[in-house]
Amino acid sequence: MKLHEHQAKEIFTKFGIPVPEGGVAFSTEEAVKVARDLGDYPLVVKAQIHCGGRGKAGGVKLVKTEEELKEAVEGMLGKVLKTFQCPEGKRVSRVWIERATDISGEFYLSITLDRSRSKPVIMGSSAGGMEIEEIVKENPDAIIIEEIDPALGLMPYQARKMALRLGLPVKEFTQIALALYRIYSELDASLVEINPLVLDRNGKLVALDAKLDIDDNALFRHRDIQEMEDETQIPPLEAEAKKYGLNYIKLNGNIGCMVNGAGLAMATMDIIKLAGGEPANFLDVGGGANVEQIANAFRILMADEDVRAVFINIFGGILRCDRLAQGLVEAGRMVELKVPVVVRMEGTNVEEGKRILAESGMNFINAEDMWDGARKAVELAKGG
Ligand code: ADP
Ligand code: MG
Repeated sequence: MKLHEHQAKEIFTKFGIPVPEGGVAFSTEEAVKVARDLGDYPLVVKAQIHCGGRGKAGGVKLVKTEEELKEAVEGMLGKVLKTFQCPEGKRVSRVWIERATDISGEFYLSITLDRSRSKPVIMGSSAGGMEIEEIVKENPDAIIIEEIDPALGLMPYQARKMALRLGLPVKEFTQIALALYRIYSELDASLVEINPLVLDRNGKLVALDAKLDIDDNALFRHRDIQEMEDETQIPPLEAEAKKYGLNYIKLNGNIGCMVNGAGLAMATMDIIKLAGGEPANFLDVGGGANVEQIANAFRILMADEDVRAVFINIFGGILRCDRLAQGLVEAGRMVELKVPVVVRMEGTNVEEGKRILAESGMNFINAEDMWDGARKAVELAKGG
């Protein structure tokens, strides 16, 4: 789960990481009130979306008067902001207003899990700011990496070493790095990032941006964070799927997939590609999906405008094939079958399942195996 910058900054404050003083606003009136409470200008207005790269896209504006503030807020609220990280854009429903910082240097600092090392790593760079992704691509040495032993946590000497290499005030930097690690471990984060971490004109370190992603599998331990979720930032079909415990991710192709088990779902996407098609989504209904989940999954697939054909690929284990077939028939009664639906199933009660589909009077297309199913779905999606 992703948090907004303003939510992450509230958490930073609790853990002792300095951030510019500010407030969140959902309307121009609220923005004016936040600005008046802060007192004097200049201030910075920042669009709150689950996406980076706002600075370059007009989502971060320095304002010197109330007039400029109103203009900036009105230019953001309700609009879709497209950045290089989110070319499809995200709607801005709130802004964060904070004091402008007099910047003398921008740095990068983050902690994330490095899967190849099976350990968290802390990464720092003096090339902070908006172009970090580009800089790292061109010059990987521009980034300093320290492995963290999860049994020990981030050690102060590691933070001091990094501070010295970055040329930053050691005591302050160490305190920030250790707090960042506490956030990472105590909140079960998958990523916590400060870009830029700024050295201001008075020599103080301030987190100007804040990014915090929490591991979804640990959210049950963090109800307060779960409540911060902003559903306007999640693609609508993904939000819908989440409600029914379905693991759904929208993709760019036109073949809707419904599969049980993440491994089989990955293999299904591969085989669609091999057959010359593009999957419209990843959808794992889970090993033990019930009839209701199947029906909802089917409805969500059909609601995707890009889908030209559906490929259902189920291995009947805990979810028996006859149950699956019943779920599909029930779903077919609720939602119109606008596009061809290819079904490949295998496993427990497969004959019974096939009989139910064949006798339903609905137009389910039977596939003998995975390859046959993929080929048929690709063909049908092309209009063949
Ligand atoms: P994004 O990463 O989405 O582009 P940031 O919060 O990192 O958004 O802001 C982009 C840039 O805007 C920063 O690198 C910094 O130069 C500037 N900026 C952001 N907040 C402030 C602030 N409070 N005062 C001064 N400049 C700021
Ligand atoms: Mg940033």
